[in-house]
Amino acid sequence: MLKYFPTCPLCGANKGYEVSGLAKTYAQCRSCGAKWMSADFAKCKEIKEMYLSEPAYDGKGASLRMPKKYPVKFWQDSNAIENAIKAEETALSRKSANKIEIEEREPKTKLIFHPEMTDQQLKTLIKESLDEIPKWDYGSTIYGKGLGSLISNTSFAEATTIRLLRAILEQNKILIIQNELLRRALSKTT
Ligand SMILES: [Zn+2]
Repeated sequence: MLKYFPTCPLCGANKGYEVSGLAKTYAQCRSCGAKWMSADFAKCKEIKEMYLSEPAYDGKGASLRMPKKYPVKFWQDSNAIENAIKAEETALSRKSANKIEIEEREPKTKLIFHPEMTDQQLKTLIKESLDEIPKWDYGSTIYGKGLGSLISNTSFAEATTIRLLRAILEQNKILIIQNELLRRALSKTT
């Protein structure tokens, strides 16, 4: 990453990158927080493809995020980046004018899933919940590892309860989505 980008493509700082991910596929700018993803980081060879996984802390680059794909040369060209951000913003402000209209007509509810989602999208949601559970369902006994207060004034017991409830919520989501998949499978056969 440093070889290709001695300074951060988004903020221009030269504070280096924090590498993360099991396969070391993420590099995050130590200055602005923008995070890139590439399978090529770990190979220490040529970077062929690189995605912006998270924008900077201040939101810069949000419109260029994955799954949008830009060549490495693009990320090396700060003018191209600025132009692309501007172009995306104008397109977005045009779109959001339409969107506001739609949102006003449709009540804002946070659904566990949307009926128009494909089976594959539902399965992805299940996977996300499965990934989420172990993040919360730990330290659920008094002697559990990593037990601590969530927020400074919650007791261990409260923190444990909050974590478990959070894990149960994800489990419930999985059940609800599985029910939907079953319902779909059944309505196909009849
Ligand atoms: Zn940066």
